[in-house]
Amino acid sequence: MTISNATLDAFIDDHLNEQETIKVEKAVRESPELQALLSSIIASRDMGDHSIGAIWRREHLSCPTREELSSYKEEALDPQRIDYIKFHLETVGCKACKANLSDLNCTKGSLKNADAHEKHRQFLENSKILLPKKQ
Ligand SMILES: [Zn+2]
Repeated sequence: MTISNATLDAFIDDHLNEQETIKVEKAVRESPELQALLSSIIASRDMGDHSIGAIWRREHLSCPTREELSSYKEEALDPQRIDYIKFHLETVGCKACKANLSDLNCTKGSLKNADAHEKHRQFLENSKILLPKKQ
C-alpha cells in the first residue's frame, strides 16, 4: 500500500475506516521514513502533543489485550507478535499497556488471584439474594 501525505492526514484526522487505519498503522510501523513523515505532519499542525505515540495512544488501536501482555511477559507468543508488543510498549510508549504490564508484573499470582476469586464468589453469593427466585 502506498501511503501519501493525504492518507497520513486522513489517518491523523481519524477519517479512514478501521481497515485503512490498521493498514496505515502497520505501514508506518514498518517504515522509519513514514514514521518521520507522520511526525513532521503532526508537528507542523502544532497539535498539543506532537508524538506519533500520542495518536496511537489516543486511538488505542494497537493495544494488545491483557492476556496477550501476560503471554508477552512469559514470551509465550509468536516472535512477530512479541515484536509488535515490544514496539507498542517501547516505541509507541503506550501508557495504558505499560501500566497493565507493570500491574501484571507485580501481581505475584496466587495470592491476589485467590483474593479476587473470593471477592467474585462473594459477589455472586450476594447477588443471588437480590435476584428473583426461579419460578
Ligand atoms: Zn496500548
